[in-house]
Amino acid sequence: MSYTTVYDVIVCGGGTSGVAAAISAARTGSKTLLVERTGVLGGQMSLSGPPGFAYARLFNPQGKRDIGGIVEETYQRLYRSGHALPHLRYPIREKAGYGFSYVDPDWWVDLIFTMMEEEGVQLLLDSLVVGVTKEENKVTGIVVENANGRNEIAGRVVIDCTGEGYVAIQAGCEITVCQGTKCSPILWHLPWTGWTGNGFYSTSAPIRSSFPLSS
Ligand SMILES: Cc1cc2nc3c(=O)[nH]c(=O)nc-3n(C[C@H](O)[C@H](O)[C@H](O)COP(=O)(O)OP(=O)(O)OC[C@H]3O[C@@H](n4cnc5c(N)ncnc54)[C@H](O)[C@@H]3O)c2cc1C
Repeated sequence: MSYTTVYDVIVCGGGTSGVAAAISAARTGSKTLLVERTGVLGGQMSLSGPPGFAYARLFNPQGKRDIGGIVEETYQRLYRSGHALPHLRYPIREKAGYGFSYVDPDWWVDLIFTMMEEEGVQLLLDSLVVGVTKEENKVTGIVVENANGRNEIAGRVVIDCTGEGYVAIQAGCEITVCQGTKCSPILWHLPWTGWTGNGFYSTSAPIRSSFPLSS
């Protein structure tokens, strides 16, 4: 099949990880599409987070920075405009083992839509990714359903930020849902070509027996 548009990068899922992936991709000059099933960006941050949401774990128990990049960039923009609280540094959170940096989720959403425009990320909202297109073993795009029906979108790189490994599962990746003390129950292990790490951080991670669990 020939497509009128082939994206360099398609990001599936517009939660905190998806928007960061899309911004990063767009900054490399990649033609980037972000697909989100709801009408708003942010995922847990905007849809089911508490009234005040905190970026957790920006600093480690020694008070040294663990996470920076786009997280810190958005935090700083919100802080400068009065929509974030100062970083909570140790020793106040010493016992918990990590710190918090509170941001206002509503202003965060406003900022993220602004950043999407600034970076030239194309958005496809209210659209559910229901599958992928493949040539042999290679993912060549996604299948989405929305008010326009079911359509294919071509992309050279497809990034799964659905929080549940949904797209990877559709692509037929082998998946292990870790449980109990082996590892965090909200980490997925996705051993595909060139990938050996714990690849997906999921917020809800229901254990579904229909998933292709590896032994
Ligand atoms: C109740 C609760 C409170 C939390 N509090 C904090 C906190 O205070 N601080 C903190 O740092 N972390 C907190 N976390 C953890 C934090 O929410 C997650 O680490 C973070 O949301 C992970 O981001 P994500 O983008 O990977 O996934 P999500 O935020 O889950 O985003 C996934 C996105 O993908 C979309 N999506 C899913 N499937 C599809 C599909 N098939 N097609 C299109 N789009 C799709 C979803 O609509 C969603 O927008 C909390 C989690 C929960 C559940």
